Amino acid sequence: MAQPLKLYDNYTRSLRTFEPLRAGGVGLYTCGPTVYDYQHIGNCRTYVFEDVLKRVLEWNGYAVRHVMNITDVGHLTSDADEGEDKMEKGSRRTGKSAWEIARIYTEAFLEDMRALNIEGPAVLSRATDHIDEQIEFIADIEKKGYTYRTSDGIYFDTSRQPDYGYLARLDKAGLEAGKRVELGEKQHPTDFALWKFSPPGTKRQMEWPSPWGIGFPGWHIECSAMAQKYLGDFIDIHCGGEDHIPVHHTNEIAQTEARVGTRLANFWMHGYFLLDNDAKMAKSAGEFLRLTTLVERGYDPLAFRYLCLTAHYRSQLNFTWDALDAAATALDRMRRGLYDLPSGGTPDASAIERFTAEINDDLNIARALAIAWELLRGDLVAPPAAKASLLAFDRVFGLSLATWQPRQETIPEAVHALAAARAAARAAKDWAEADRLRAELQAAGWEVEDSSAGYTLKRR
Ligand code: AMP
Ligand code: ZN
Repeated sequence: MAQPLKLYDNYTRSLRTFEPLRAGGVGLYTCGPTVYDYQHIGNCRTYVFEDVLKRVLEWNGYAVRHVMNITDVGHLTSDADEGEDKMEKGSRRTGKSAWEIARIYTEAFLEDMRALNIEGPAVLSRATDHIDEQIEFIADIEKKGYTYRTSDGIYFDTSRQPDYGYLARLDKAGLEAGKRVELGEKQHPTDFALWKFSPPGTKRQMEWPSPWGIGFPGWHIECSAMAQKYLGDFIDIHCGGEDHIPVHHTNEIAQTEARVGTRLANFWMHGYFLLDNDAKMAKSAGEFLRLTTLVERGYDPLAFRYLCLTAHYRSQLNFTWDALDAAATALDRMRRGLYDLPSGGTPDASAIERFTAEINDDLNIARALAIAWELLRGDLVAPPAAKASLLAFDRVFGLSLATWQPRQETIPEAVHALAAARAAARAAKDWAEADRLRAELQAAGWEVEDSSAGYTLKRR
Protein backbone atom coordinates (compact mmCIF):
# COMPACT_ATOMS: atom_id res chain seq x y z
CA MET A 1 0.00 0.00 0.00
CA ALA A 2 1.21 3.47 -0.80
CA GLN A 3 0.65 4.72 2.73
CA PRO A 4 1.27 1.99 5.25
CA LEU A 5 -0.75 2.00 8.43
CA LYS A 6 1.52 2.58 11.42
CA LEU A 7 0.25 1.79 14.90
CA TYR A 8 1.92 2.12 18.26
CA ASP A 9 2.34 -1.24 19.94
CA ASN A 10 2.82 -0.99 23.67
CA TYR A 11 4.31 -4.49 23.87
CA THR A 12 7.36 -3.58 21.80
CA ARG A 13 6.97 0.12 22.70
CA SER A 14 7.31 1.04 19.08
CA LEU A 15 5.49 2.33 16.06
CA ARG A 16 5.07 -0.62 13.75
CA THR A 17 3.60 -1.11 10.30
CA PHE A 18 0.36 -2.97 10.67
CA GLU A 19 -0.05 -6.15 8.64
CA PRO A 20 -2.91 -8.53 9.39
CA LEU A 21 -1.87 -11.95 10.63
CA ARG A 22 -4.31 -13.69 8.31
CA ALA A 23 -5.61 -12.70 4.92
CA GLY A 24 -9.23 -11.64 4.89
CA GLY A 25 -9.66 -9.88 8.17
CA VAL A 26 -8.39 -8.30 11.34
CA GLY A 27 -9.22 -9.72 14.76
CA LEU A 28 -9.74 -6.98 17.34
CA TYR A 29 -10.42 -7.63 21.00
CA THR A 30 -11.29 -4.75 23.29
CA CYS A 31 -11.90 -4.99 27.03
CA GLY A 32 -15.44 -3.93 27.77
CA PRO A 33 -17.20 -2.45 30.76
CA THR A 34 -17.57 -3.81 34.26
CA VAL A 35 -21.33 -3.54 34.54
CA TYR A 36 -21.75 -2.74 38.22
CA ASP A 37 -22.50 0.91 37.56
CA TYR A 38 -22.86 3.39 34.71
CA GLN A 39 -19.86 4.12 32.53
CA HIS A 40 -18.19 7.49 33.06
CA ILE A 41 -17.02 9.73 30.25
CA GLY A 42 -13.46 8.51 30.81
CA ASN A 43 -14.55 4.99 29.90
CA CYS A 44 -16.33 6.51 26.89
CA ARG A 45 -13.11 8.11 25.69
CA THR A 46 -11.47 4.68 25.49
CA TYR A 47 -14.42 3.28 23.53
CA VAL A 48 -14.27 6.23 21.11
CA PHE A 49 -10.56 5.56 20.57
CA GLU A 50 -11.27 1.88 19.85
CA ASP A 51 -14.07 2.81 17.48
CA VAL A 52 -11.81 5.19 15.58
CA LEU A 53 -9.15 2.49 15.37
CA LYS A 54 -11.70 0.12 13.90
CA ARG A 55 -12.85 2.72 11.39
CA VAL A 56 -9.25 3.44 10.37
CA LEU A 57 -8.68 -0.28 9.80
CA GLU A 58 -11.83 -0.34 7.66
CA TRP A 59 -10.67 2.76 5.79
CA ASN A 60 -7.55 0.77 4.92
CA GLY A 61 -9.72 -1.94 3.40
CA TYR A 62 -9.65 -4.48 6.21
CA ALA A 63 -12.72 -6.34 7.39
CA VAL A 64 -12.61 -6.16 11.19
CA ARG A 65 -13.96 -8.85 13.47
CA HIS A 66 -14.44 -7.05 16.75
CA VAL A 67 -15.01 -8.89 20.00
CA MET A 68 -15.76 -7.12 23.26
CA ASN A 69 -16.42 -8.67 26.64
CA ILE A 70 -18.84 -7.59 29.30
CA THR A 71 -17.36 -8.11 32.75
CA ASP A 72 -20.30 -9.20 34.84
CA VAL A 73 -18.45 -11.22 37.46
CA GLY A 74 -15.07 -11.48 39.15
CA HIS A 75 -13.72 -7.90 38.96
CA LEU A 76 -12.78 -7.22 42.56
CA THR A 77 -12.61 -3.80 44.13
CA SER A 78 -8.84 -4.21 44.45
CA ASP A 79 -6.54 -5.24 41.62
CA ALA A 80 -4.64 -7.35 44.17
CA ASP A 81 -7.46 -9.92 44.22
CA GLU A 82 -8.78 -8.71 47.51
CA GLY A 83 -11.91 -6.91 48.41
CA GLU A 84 -15.37 -7.55 47.19
CA ASP A 85 -16.69 -8.45 43.76
CA LYS A 86 -17.80 -5.16 42.21
CA MET A 87 -21.02 -6.80 41.07
CA GLU A 88 -22.00 -7.97 44.55
CA LYS A 89 -21.09 -4.56 45.91
CA GLY A 90 -23.21 -2.86 43.22
CA SER A 91 -26.03 -5.17 44.18
CA ARG A 92 -25.85 -4.01 47.79
CA ARG A 93 -25.66 -0.37 46.72
CA THR A 94 -28.76 -0.58 44.56
CA GLY A 95 -30.78 -3.23 46.37
CA LYS A 96 -31.09 -5.14 43.09
CA SER A 97 -29.68 -8.56 42.29
CA ALA A 98 -26.23 -8.85 40.69
CA TRP A 99 -27.92 -10.33 37.58
CA GLU A 100 -30.35 -7.45 37.41
CA ILE A 101 -27.70 -4.74 37.66
CA ALA A 102 -25.61 -6.52 35.01
CA ARG A 103 -28.61 -6.27 32.70
CA ILE A 104 -29.39 -2.64 33.56
CA TYR A 105 -25.84 -1.34 33.20
CA THR A 106 -25.13 -3.35 30.06
CA GLU A 107 -28.19 -1.73 28.47
CA ALA A 108 -27.09 1.74 29.67
CA PHE A 109 -23.62 1.10 28.25
CA LEU A 110 -25.07 0.13 24.87
CA GLU A 111 -27.18 3.28 24.85
CA ASP A 112 -24.07 5.39 25.45
CA MET A 113 -22.35 3.59 22.58
CA ARG A 114 -25.24 4.31 20.22
CA ALA A 115 -25.30 7.97 21.25
CA LEU A 116 -21.58 8.21 20.48
CA ASN A 117 -21.98 6.58 17.05
CA ILE A 118 -19.85 3.67 18.13
CA GLU A 119 -20.37 0.66 15.90
CA GLY A 120 -21.19 -2.33 18.04
CA PRO A 121 -18.80 -5.29 18.13
CA ALA A 122 -19.56 -8.40 16.08
CA VAL A 123 -19.44 -10.40 19.30
CA LEU A 124 -20.38 -8.95 22.69
CA SER A 125 -19.67 -11.70 25.15
CA ARG A 126 -20.52 -11.88 28.82
CA ALA A 127 -18.10 -13.45 31.26
CA THR A 128 -20.97 -15.32 32.93
CA ASP A 129 -21.88 -16.96 29.61
CA HIS A 130 -18.37 -18.39 29.34
CA ILE A 131 -17.77 -20.05 32.68
CA ASP A 132 -17.04 -23.44 31.05
CA GLU A 133 -14.43 -21.94 28.74
CA GLN A 134 -12.76 -20.25 31.70
CA ILE A 135 -12.74 -23.44 33.76
CA GLU A 136 -11.23 -25.35 30.82
CA PHE A 137 -8.59 -22.69 30.40
CA ILE A 138 -7.61 -22.84 34.07
CA ALA A 139 -7.62 -26.64 34.08
CA ASP A 140 -5.26 -26.60 31.11
CA ILE A 141 -2.73 -24.25 32.68
CA GLU A 142 -3.04 -26.16 35.92
CA LYS A 143 -1.96 -29.29 34.03
CA LYS A 144 1.01 -27.38 32.70
CA GLY A 145 2.03 -26.55 36.26
CA TYR A 146 1.38 -22.82 36.40
CA THR A 147 -1.00 -22.77 39.33
CA TYR A 148 -1.17 -23.29 43.07
CA ARG A 149 -3.92 -23.39 45.60
CA THR A 150 -4.47 -21.18 48.63
CA SER A 151 -7.32 -21.20 51.10
CA ASP A 152 -9.25 -18.69 48.99
CA GLY A 153 -8.56 -19.76 45.44
CA ILE A 154 -6.41 -21.03 42.61
CA TYR A 155 -3.57 -18.68 41.77
CA PHE A 156 -1.26 -18.17 38.81
CA ASP A 157 2.40 -18.57 39.69
CA THR A 158 4.05 -15.67 37.88
CA SER A 159 7.56 -16.83 38.81
CA ARG A 160 7.15 -19.61 36.23
CA GLN A 161 7.44 -17.04 33.43
CA PRO A 162 10.77 -15.26 33.07
CA ASP A 163 9.14 -12.63 30.85
CA TYR A 164 6.13 -12.06 33.12
CA GLY A 165 5.31 -8.34 33.17
CA TYR A 166 7.16 -7.48 29.97
CA LEU A 167 4.23 -5.44 28.59
CA ALA A 168 4.37 -3.13 31.61
CA ARG A 169 8.17 -3.41 31.97
CA LEU A 170 7.41 -4.43 35.55
CA ASP A 171 10.27 -4.23 37.97
CA LYS A 172 9.89 -7.74 39.34
CA ALA A 173 12.95 -7.56 41.56
CA GLY A 174 11.69 -4.34 43.11
CA LEU A 175 8.25 -5.85 43.67
CA GLU A 176 9.77 -8.99 45.24
CA ALA A 177 11.86 -6.84 47.56
CA GLY A 178 8.76 -5.01 48.75
CA LYS A 179 6.72 -8.15 49.17
CA ARG A 180 6.38 -8.00 52.93
CA VAL A 181 3.39 -5.83 52.20
CA GLU A 182 0.19 -7.85 52.34
CA LEU A 183 1.30 -10.93 50.47
CA GLY A 184 -1.04 -13.20 52.38
CA GLU A 185 -0.89 -16.74 51.04
CA LYS A 186 0.27 -15.56 47.64
CA GLN A 187 3.77 -16.75 46.83
CA HIS A 188 4.78 -13.69 44.82
CA PRO A 189 3.38 -10.17 44.79
CA THR A 190 2.41 -10.41 41.11
CA ASP A 191 0.59 -13.77 41.40
CA PHE A 192 -3.11 -13.43 40.69
CA ALA A 193 -6.34 -15.34 41.13
CA LEU A 194 -7.68 -17.60 38.41
CA TRP A 195 -10.55 -18.98 40.45
CA LYS A 196 -11.81 -17.69 43.79
CA PHE A 197 -13.76 -19.84 46.20
CA SER A 198 -17.05 -18.59 47.53
CA PRO A 199 -16.24 -17.56 51.10
CA PRO A 200 -17.18 -20.38 53.49
CA GLY A 201 -20.61 -19.99 55.03
CA THR A 202 -21.79 -17.41 52.52
CA LYS A 203 -23.83 -17.81 49.40
CA ARG A 204 -22.78 -15.57 46.58
CA GLN A 205 -25.34 -14.51 43.99
CA MET A 206 -22.97 -15.52 41.23
CA GLU A 207 -21.14 -18.79 41.80
CA TRP A 208 -20.51 -22.01 39.93
CA PRO A 209 -19.20 -25.50 40.63
CA SER A 210 -15.69 -26.21 39.37
CA PRO A 211 -13.03 -28.92 39.74
CA TRP A 212 -11.60 -26.84 42.60
CA GLY A 213 -14.78 -26.00 44.45
CA ILE A 214 -17.71 -23.63 44.23
CA GLY A 215 -16.69 -20.13 43.33
CA PHE A 216 -16.18 -17.68 40.50
CA PRO A 217 -13.50 -16.85 37.95
CA GLY A 218 -10.84 -14.20 38.50
CA TRP A 219 -11.22 -11.10 36.35
CA HIS A 220 -8.39 -11.70 33.86
CA ILE A 221 -9.22 -15.23 32.76
CA GLU A 222 -12.43 -14.19 30.96
CA CYS A 223 -10.52 -12.14 28.40
CA SER A 224 -7.90 -14.81 27.67
CA ALA A 225 -10.67 -17.39 27.29
CA MET A 226 -13.04 -15.34 25.16
CA ALA A 227 -10.34 -13.83 22.96
CA GLN A 228 -9.11 -17.34 22.19
CA LYS A 229 -12.60 -18.71 21.62
CA TYR A 230 -13.69 -16.02 19.17
CA LEU A 231 -10.43 -14.90 17.60
CA GLY A 232 -7.81 -17.63 18.04
CA ASP A 233 -4.50 -18.18 19.80
CA PHE A 234 -2.79 -15.07 18.44
CA ILE A 235 -4.91 -12.11 17.44
CA ASP A 236 -4.13 -8.92 15.57
CA ILE A 237 -4.93 -6.19 18.09
CA HIS A 238 -5.96 -6.02 21.72
CA CYS A 239 -7.05 -2.76 23.32
CA GLY A 240 -8.12 -1.26 26.59
CA GLY A 241 -7.40 1.77 28.72
CA GLU A 242 -3.90 2.54 29.97
CA ASP A 243 -4.80 1.28 33.47
CA HIS A 244 -4.92 -2.23 32.02
CA ILE A 245 -1.22 -2.30 31.19
CA PRO A 246 0.31 -3.24 34.58
CA VAL A 247 -2.23 -5.79 35.81
CA HIS A 248 -5.12 -6.86 33.61
CA HIS A 249 -3.36 -7.11 30.25
CA THR A 250 -0.15 -8.29 31.85
CA ASN A 251 -2.11 -11.17 33.36
CA GLU A 252 -4.05 -11.93 30.19
CA ILE A 253 -0.70 -12.32 28.44
CA ALA A 254 0.64 -14.57 31.21
CA GLN A 255 -2.38 -16.88 31.01
CA THR A 256 -2.42 -17.14 27.23
CA GLU A 257 1.33 -17.61 27.07
CA ALA A 258 1.00 -20.43 29.60
CA ARG A 259 -1.71 -22.12 27.59
CA VAL A 260 -0.70 -21.62 23.96
CA GLY A 261 2.70 -19.92 24.02
CA THR A 262 1.75 -16.62 22.39
CA ARG A 263 1.57 -13.11 23.80
CA LEU A 264 -2.10 -13.13 22.82
CA ALA A 265 -1.98 -10.12 20.51
CA ASN A 266 0.37 -8.87 17.83
CA PHE A 267 -0.42 -5.26 18.75
CA TRP A 268 -1.26 -4.04 22.25
CA MET A 269 -2.85 -0.60 22.08
CA HIS A 270 -4.11 1.55 24.92
CA GLY A 271 -6.29 4.61 25.23
CA TYR A 272 -4.90 7.12 27.70
CA PHE A 273 -7.03 8.59 30.42
CA LEU A 274 -9.53 11.34 30.37
CA LEU A 275 -8.85 13.30 33.53
CA ASP A 276 -11.25 15.30 35.57
CA ASN A 277 -9.45 18.25 37.14
CA ASP A 278 -6.23 16.27 36.83
CA ALA A 279 -7.55 13.43 39.01
CA LYS A 280 -8.50 9.95 37.86
CA MET A 281 -12.15 9.79 37.05
CA ALA A 282 -13.21 7.30 39.62
CA LYS A 283 -16.60 5.78 40.19
CA SER A 284 -15.58 4.92 43.71
CA ALA A 285 -15.58 8.67 44.39
CA GLY A 286 -19.37 8.52 44.18
CA GLU A 287 -20.32 11.33 41.82
CA PHE A 288 -19.00 10.95 38.34
CA LEU A 289 -19.67 12.37 34.93
CA ARG A 290 -21.74 10.27 32.60
CA LEU A 291 -22.56 10.87 28.97
CA THR A 292 -26.14 11.50 30.00
CA THR A 293 -24.92 14.19 32.45
CA LEU A 294 -23.61 16.07 29.42
CA VAL A 295 -26.87 15.55 27.54
CA GLU A 296 -28.86 16.82 30.53
CA ARG A 297 -26.74 19.96 30.37
CA GLY A 298 -27.74 20.47 26.75
CA TYR A 299 -24.75 18.98 24.93
CA ASP A 300 -24.95 16.75 21.88
CA PRO A 301 -23.14 13.47 22.74
CA LEU A 302 -21.27 13.85 19.46
CA ALA A 303 -19.74 17.07 20.83
CA PHE A 304 -18.03 14.78 23.35
CA ARG A 305 -16.95 12.51 20.49
CA TYR A 306 -15.55 15.58 18.70
CA LEU A 307 -13.65 16.53 21.87
CA CYS A 308 -12.10 13.06 21.95
CA LEU A 309 -11.04 13.41 18.31
CA THR A 310 -9.09 16.58 19.04
CA ALA A 311 -6.54 14.84 21.27
CA HIS A 312 -4.21 11.98 20.39
CA TYR A 313 -5.31 8.74 22.01
CA ARG A 314 -1.85 8.26 23.52
CA SER A 315 -1.97 11.44 25.54
CA GLN A 316 -4.15 12.11 28.52
CA LEU A 317 -6.87 14.67 28.07
CA ASN A 318 -8.15 16.96 30.75
CA PHE A 319 -11.90 17.31 30.70
CA THR A 320 -13.22 20.83 31.18
CA TRP A 321 -16.59 22.35 30.34
CA ASP A 322 -14.80 25.04 28.33
CA ALA A 323 -13.16 22.37 26.20
CA LEU A 324 -16.53 20.71 25.66
CA ASP A 325 -18.07 24.08 24.71
CA ALA A 326 -15.33 24.62 22.16
CA ALA A 327 -15.90 21.14 20.75
CA ALA A 328 -19.65 21.72 20.53
CA THR A 329 -19.12 25.01 18.69
CA ALA A 330 -16.64 23.44 16.29
CA LEU A 331 -18.98 20.53 15.58
CA ASP A 332 -21.86 22.91 14.86
CA ARG A 333 -19.71 24.97 12.53
CA MET A 334 -18.48 21.86 10.77
CA ARG A 335 -22.01 20.52 10.28
CA ARG A 336 -23.37 23.86 9.10
CA GLY A 337 -20.35 24.45 6.83
CA LEU A 338 -20.74 21.06 5.21
CA TYR A 339 -24.50 21.45 4.86
CA ASP A 340 -24.03 24.74 3.00
CA LEU A 341 -21.63 23.23 0.46
CA PRO A 342 -23.09 22.14 -2.87
CA SER A 343 -23.38 18.41 -3.53
CA GLY A 344 -22.56 16.56 -6.74
CA GLY A 345 -18.77 16.33 -6.50
CA THR A 346 -16.41 13.45 -6.00
CA PRO A 347 -13.75 13.25 -3.30
CA ASP A 348 -10.54 15.06 -4.11
CA ALA A 349 -7.69 12.58 -4.54
CA SER A 350 -5.01 14.74 -2.95
CA ALA A 351 -7.20 15.59 0.07
CA ILE A 352 -7.93 11.90 0.56
CA GLU A 353 -4.25 11.10 0.29
CA ARG A 354 -3.28 13.70 2.90
CA PHE A 355 -6.07 12.50 5.17
CA THR A 356 -4.94 8.88 4.84
CA ALA A 357 -1.37 9.86 5.66
CA GLU A 358 -2.52 11.47 8.91
CA ILE A 359 -4.86 8.76 10.11
CA ASN A 360 -2.34 6.08 9.16
CA ASP A 361 0.25 7.86 11.30
CA ASP A 362 -0.91 6.14 14.48
CA LEU A 363 -4.38 7.70 14.22
CA ASN A 364 -3.46 11.35 14.06
CA ILE A 365 -7.10 12.38 14.02
CA ALA A 366 -6.44 15.94 15.21
CA ARG A 367 -4.38 16.55 12.07
CA ALA A 368 -7.06 14.88 9.96
CA LEU A 369 -9.59 17.31 11.45
CA ALA A 370 -7.31 20.20 10.46
CA ILE A 371 -7.52 19.02 6.83
CA ALA A 372 -11.31 18.95 7.15
CA TRP A 373 -11.24 22.59 8.29
CA GLU A 374 -9.00 23.55 5.36
CA LEU A 375 -11.57 22.00 3.03
CA LEU A 376 -14.41 23.84 4.74
CA ARG A 377 -12.60 27.15 4.41
CA GLY A 378 -12.50 26.52 0.66
CA ASP A 379 -8.71 26.80 0.53
CA LEU A 380 -8.10 23.53 -1.19
CA VAL A 381 -10.60 22.37 -3.76
CA ALA A 382 -13.89 23.25 -5.43
CA PRO A 383 -16.86 23.21 -3.03
CA PRO A 384 -18.60 20.05 -4.36
CA ALA A 385 -15.32 18.09 -4.17
CA ALA A 386 -14.75 19.49 -0.68
CA LYS A 387 -18.16 18.26 0.40
CA ALA A 388 -17.63 14.78 -1.05
CA SER A 389 -14.19 14.56 0.60
CA LEU A 390 -15.57 15.60 3.99
CA LEU A 391 -18.33 13.04 3.78
CA ALA A 392 -15.67 10.41 3.08
CA PHE A 393 -13.61 11.60 6.07
CA ASP A 394 -16.66 11.18 8.27
CA ARG A 395 -16.45 7.42 7.78
CA VAL A 396 -13.55 7.74 10.23
CA PHE A 397 -14.72 10.71 12.34
CA GLY A 398 -18.17 9.21 12.88
CA LEU A 399 -19.80 12.60 13.47
CA SER A 400 -22.94 11.91 11.39
CA LEU A 401 -22.14 14.88 9.17
CA ALA A 402 -24.26 13.56 6.29
CA THR A 403 -27.49 13.35 8.21
CA TRP A 404 -27.33 16.67 10.02
CA GLN A 405 -30.08 19.18 9.21
CA PRO A 406 -30.49 22.71 10.52
CA ARG A 407 -33.15 22.75 13.15
CA GLN A 408 -36.51 23.78 11.67
CA GLU A 409 -37.92 26.48 13.87
CA THR A 410 -41.58 26.06 14.61
CA ILE A 411 -43.10 29.48 14.83
CA PRO A 412 -45.88 29.72 17.39
CA GLU A 413 -49.38 30.65 16.13
CA ALA A 414 -49.46 33.82 18.26
CA VAL A 415 -46.24 35.02 16.62
CA HIS A 416 -47.68 34.33 13.16
CA ALA A 417 -50.76 36.33 14.13
CA LEU A 418 -48.68 39.31 15.31
CA ALA A 419 -46.65 39.27 12.12
CA ALA A 420 -49.79 39.08 9.98
CA ALA A 421 -51.34 41.98 11.90
CA ARG A 422 -48.17 43.99 11.39
CA ALA A 423 -48.22 43.25 7.65
CA ALA A 424 -51.82 44.46 7.52
CA ALA A 425 -50.89 47.65 9.44
CA ARG A 426 -48.07 48.29 6.98
CA ALA A 427 -50.39 47.75 4.05
CA ALA A 428 -52.74 50.30 5.61
CA LYS A 429 -49.73 52.64 6.12
CA ASP A 430 -50.43 52.63 9.87
CA TRP A 431 -46.72 52.91 10.72
CA ALA A 432 -47.24 53.53 14.41
CA GLU A 433 -49.22 50.29 14.76
CA ALA A 434 -46.67 48.39 12.60
CA ASP A 435 -43.83 49.61 14.85
CA ARG A 436 -45.77 48.70 17.97
CA LEU A 437 -46.33 45.18 16.64
CA ARG A 438 -42.65 44.84 15.67
CA ALA A 439 -41.69 45.76 19.24
CA GLU A 440 -44.16 43.19 20.54
CA LEU A 441 -42.64 40.51 18.30
CA GLN A 442 -39.16 41.45 19.49
CA ALA A 443 -40.28 41.20 23.08
CA ALA A 444 -41.48 37.67 22.26
CA GLY A 445 -38.02 36.88 20.84
CA TRP A 446 -38.67 37.22 17.12
CA GLU A 447 -37.27 39.50 14.45
CA VAL A 448 -39.29 40.25 11.35
CA GLU A 449 -37.55 41.02 8.08
CA ASP A 450 -39.45 42.59 5.23
CA SER A 451 -38.75 41.87 1.58
CA SER A 452 -40.53 42.41 -1.71
CA ALA A 453 -41.98 38.89 -1.35
CA GLY A 454 -43.49 39.59 2.07
CA TYR A 455 -41.75 38.96 5.38
CA THR A 456 -39.77 36.27 7.19
CA LEU A 457 -39.56 35.56 10.88
CA LYS A 458 -36.28 34.74 12.59
CA ARG A 459 -35.33 34.04 16.18
CA ARG A 460 -33.55 37.04 17.69
P1 AMP B 1 -14.16 -0.65 33.51
O1 AMP B 1 -15.67 -0.46 33.36
O2 AMP B 1 -13.62 -0.10 34.77
O3 AMP B 1 -13.78 -2.11 33.33
O4 AMP B 1 -13.47 0.17 32.37
C1 AMP B 1 -13.88 0.17 31.03
C2 AMP B 1 -12.82 0.75 30.12
O5 AMP B 1 -12.57 2.15 30.42
C3 AMP B 1 -11.46 0.08 30.24
O6 AMP B 1 -10.90 -0.04 28.94
C4 AMP B 1 -10.66 1.04 31.09
O7 AMP B 1 -9.28 0.89 30.88
C5 AMP B 1 -11.17 2.37 30.59
N1 AMP B 1 -11.01 3.52 31.52
C6 AMP B 1 -11.22 3.54 32.86
N2 AMP B 1 -11.04 4.79 33.35
C7 AMP B 1 -10.74 5.59 32.31
C8 AMP B 1 -10.45 7.00 32.15
N3 AMP B 1 -10.47 7.86 33.17
N4 AMP B 1 -10.17 7.47 30.91
C9 AMP B 1 -10.17 6.63 29.84
N5 AMP B 1 -10.43 5.31 29.93
C10 AMP B 1 -10.72 4.79 31.13
ZN1 ZN C 1 -9.82 -7.68 29.40
